[in-house]
Amino acid sequence: MSHPCLRCGACCATFRVSFHWSEAQPDNPDGPPADLVMPLRRHELAMRGTEGSHPRCAGLRGTIGVDGHCGIYPQRPSVCREVEPSWEFGRHSPQCDKGRAAHGLKLLTPDDWAMQPVVLPGVDQVPLVATAMPEVDDLPPGYGAEPSPSPDAGSPLS
Ligand code: SF4
Ligand code: SF4
Repeated sequence: MSHPCLRCGACCATFRVSFHWSEAQPDNPDGPPADLVMPLRRHELAMRGTEGSHPRCAGLRGTIGVDGHCGIYPQRPSVCREVEPSWEFGRHSPQCDKGRAAHGLKLLTPDDWAMQPVVLPGVDQVPLVATAMPEVDDLPPGYGAEPSPSPDAGSPLS
């Protein structure tokens, strides 16, 4: 089974994705490419395509719910790194659920993770159980984001 985020992309076409200007290139060589971001407010940028009423991030590749995935995964902004797929780390994710619901996709459940192998590019299959998650160093570049607390109500993912 591939990781759900490699065949989804719903949250990338649901929210406005905004962040501090210093996260993006050229100020941050490891950040989102300059041609994929746009000015939003005085100190903020947004991922192109996410600012309108029908958002779809310019970094999103593929078809939502089929093979939708982030095309700049290692360079994605901090707000994207904070979004967890529901139940990957034992808790539901409001952004994941809202994104999937907005695109008519089944919400993820604990059963989507328990005792199922996950396939990440360049990594041998590993069991997807909480006690056997791959170490960050074992993952390919960009696939090592650690779980973080769910963004609060003031999240730039709005
Ligand atoms: S976090 Fe959820 S909505 Fe976003 S790509 Fe992953 S599975 Fe889809
Ligand atoms: S930068 Fe990547 S993860 Fe973030 S919204 Fe765009 S496609 Fe999704």
